[in-house]
Amino acid sequence: MREQTCPKCGSPDIIPNVVIPDHYELGMANEMIMRISENPSAWIFKGTQKSTMRAWICGECGFVEMYVTQPRVLWEAWQKAQQQSPGD
Ligand SMILES: [Zn+2]
Repeated sequence: MREQTCPKCGSPDIIPNVVIPDHYELGMANEMIMRISENPSAWIFKGTQKSTMRAWICGECGFVEMYVTQPRVLWEAWQKAQQQSPGD
């Protein structure tokens, strides 16, 4: 949907980069966050990386597509997690 046309119905009526509210504190909406831990089995220093998420909404059929804003940060954290071997 980053091409600005809906992958479902082909409509060009796309609402881009919409903030996805997660929870509210003091009347303020906090953005939904995706978290990936570099070392999920660690007790404390998990090296958790975070990225906010944004939605692209089709104004014709209502299809919603979501993206993290910093995919490389999460990918690198996930790759580090794969290098951990819990058995050692
Ligand atoms: Zn659509």
